[in-house]
Amino acid sequence: MTGTGALEQELRRLIEAEGPVSVARYMALCLAHPQYGYYVTRDPLGAAGDFTTAPEISQMFGELLGLWAIAVWQAMGAPPRVLLTELGPGRGTLMADALRAARVVPAFRAAAEVHLVEMSPVLRARQGEALSASGASPVWHGDVAELPDAPLIVIANEFFDALPVEQAVKTERGWRARMVGIDADGKFAFGLAPDPIPQFERLLPERLRDAPAGAVFEWRPDHVLVEVCRRLLAFGGAALVIDYGHAESGFGDTLQAVRRHGFADPLLAPGEADLTSHVDFEALRNAAARCGVRAPGPIGQGAFLRGLGIEARAARLRASATAEQAARVDAALARLTGSGPDQMGELFKVLAMAHPMLGPLPGFDN
Ligand code: SAH
Repeated sequence: MTGTGALEQELRRLIEAEGPVSVARYMALCLAHPQYGYYVTRDPLGAAGDFTTAPEISQMFGELLGLWAIAVWQAMGAPPRVLLTELGPGRGTLMADALRAARVVPAFRAAAEVHLVEMSPVLRARQGEALSASGASPVWHGDVAELPDAPLIVIANEFFDALPVEQAVKTERGWRARMVGIDADGKFAFGLAPDPIPQFERLLPERLRDAPAGAVFEWRPDHVLVEVCRRLLAFGGAALVIDYGHAESGFGDTLQAVRRHGFADPLLAPGEADLTSHVDFEALRNAAARCGVRAPGPIGQGAFLRGLGIEARAARLRASATAEQAARVDAALARLTGSGPDQMGELFKVLAMAHPMLGPLPGFDN
């Protein structure tokens, strides 16, 4: 049996036995089912896969984040041990580029212990290969809570958008959770929980409390963020969340399925398409603030990368490149920093989180 068929049948049995499941539970099963989950069974990245990401577009991305990490480590007082941690490292490209760039500061390389939070066995193997030449001995974890207790620098690129999201819909009778069930034709279909969620409005920023009927609100259970913040406060350090999403909370259904670089129906072929939804940076910021962590940003990825010197880096790469390579550097620079709809410079945002005593972070002016 194919992975698709198997997960579909399992979901069907689950819904028949227990009733409709929440959107987050559906998403978690599709992405992370221990046998048939999308990330568990494949490497989804690259031209032959379903989507591509900034580190796969250009080495400049990981290199600049490596230099960012060095500057943060120095601001932390150059501790002799720091956990250089990546959440959802994909193919390991970002970390490999970061470590290569970080060779310029041997004391940092000596202090940095590489920790990778990754659930996919397929991607863990790819990460190991990507880092084999780096001299690092990465340690893998299934969850941030398993990290050792030590100062840390965390990078999460396109990780939070893959964390399961809940949805609620405003109805005449209050906010009701959106569920995935099975319709009269035997197909997976969205529906609403019979009863409203008590006091749901309290979850919403004040300006959104008076919502029209039909409005959809999304939120993510925030245990990863809270655990990262707890560690930043307890052991010192900083974290960087880079993702696509909105700076301010708002209404809208942003759950999407992506397959072979195009949009797909999130309820068709569960486990065969990537499921994501926009990151609500206001919600992340508020959660960080509640934990007592300083959270500069979010700023656009373009502004952030320019602040770290991507233009100078591109010029250096161009200087030793063939005409064809130089054109590729220019294309990557435009894609990573441009403000058009197909470019990542404004669509993608960067939020930092830091121990409140840590000084200004590179790339941010607050
Ligand atoms: N950061 C990479 C990959 C992004 S894809 C890049 O920019 O190219 C999302 C990554 O997060 C994958 O490595 C996926 O396996 C991992 N992932 C998704 N949900 C996860 C979870 N709940 N726990 C651990 N890893 C997860």
